[in-house]
Amino acid sequence: MRITALAGGIGGARFLRGLRHHVQRVTDDSVQREIEGTEITVIGNTGDDIWIHGLRVCPDLDTVMYTLGEGIDPERGWGRLDETFHAKEELTAYGVEPTWFGLGDRDIGTHLVRTTSLNAGYPLSRVTEALCERWQPGVHLIPMTDDRAETHVIVDDPDNPGTDIALHFQEWWIRYRASLPARRFVIVGIEEATPAPGVVDALRNADVIVLPPSNPIVSIGTILAVPGLADEIRAATAPVVGVSPIISGAPVRGMTDACLRASGIETTAAAVAQHYGARTSGGLLDGWLVDTSDATSTPVIEEAGITARAVPLLMTDLDATAAMAAETLDLASHLRSTP
Ligand code: GDP
Ligand code: CA
Repeated sequence: MRITALAGGIGGARFLRGLRHHVQRVTDDSVQREIEGTEITVIGNTGDDIWIHGLRVCPDLDTVMYTLGEGIDPERGWGRLDETFHAKEELTAYGVEPTWFGLGDRDIGTHLVRTTSLNAGYPLSRVTEALCERWQPGVHLIPMTDDRAETHVIVDDPDNPGTDIALHFQEWWIRYRASLPARRFVIVGIEEATPAPGVVDALRNADVIVLPPSNPIVSIGTILAVPGLADEIRAATAPVVGVSPIISGAPVRGMTDACLRASGIETTAAAVAQHYGARTSGGLLDGWLVDTSDATSTPVIEEAGITARAVPLLMTDLDATAAMAAETLDLASHLRSTP
């Protein structure tokens, strides 16, 4: 079975770790025989990418790579395990901006390899493949595009009220903790971006397309903004199943609500499903999982033309996350058998 998933950082990566665990532990038990030989392809968000002190940093790709490669700091959810920040302290002592970005010493190794390879002319997709040779994530990780397309946030200038300014997404998210009200998001360069090699094939050849519980606006939304990519999903033969990142009217972690607010979407599992829309009416979803605490919202999602199920959606540990992945695949196989 070929599974293709779109993914942002922490939410996407944790879900994928559960998915990989689920497909690996399954033996030839009759119900789940189709899972043997499963290949997982991950289309990663690169809208968060940024140049920091001359280094090309790809936060979401690295979060997926480190999480699946068991190199992540599990408490923070980003960056390397056993990390130190001496280089960052030195840069701060020089008074060099930006000082708000958490550039770890171990992490810098990854950014140096990436930057050197990019400067030598290799596309990001090839560089990512090379980095993954070390981490062996057990999935095929592809950036959404090899082109530069970075998310910016239009806000009221804190130093000059009444004037709009565009901040890089990372500055808005990390430095301001998404506290400056976002007017809108602009992905600079996205119109000229093309899907990276392998992205379109992964969507066309998939047996199931999964939208993990990643940020619907600045993670999944950014991937979907790559010209042609959303159309591939709309036209795919595989069922498309999504997992809600919103539980009981709030994000499980992070500031996703600030992104939804800026986009005029209510912070509820049902509103996010309606935002993606039903494939039967030109949208993206066939199925949607909400948390058991949101079970009362399934009828409104079904009315929109999306098959909805309520199951536990808290990724408290690997087994709980694997169970979520199993529910995702189960809903997909139900949708495949009842077209
Ligand atoms: P980022 O790029 O690091 O912000 O990560 P993603 O975009 O991949 O995921 C962020 C989303 O993950 C947030 O909206 C969270 O609500 C969601 N999330 C985090 N932990 C959980 C969890 O345990 N369950 C669910 N359903 N969503 C989660
Ligand atoms: Ca991200």
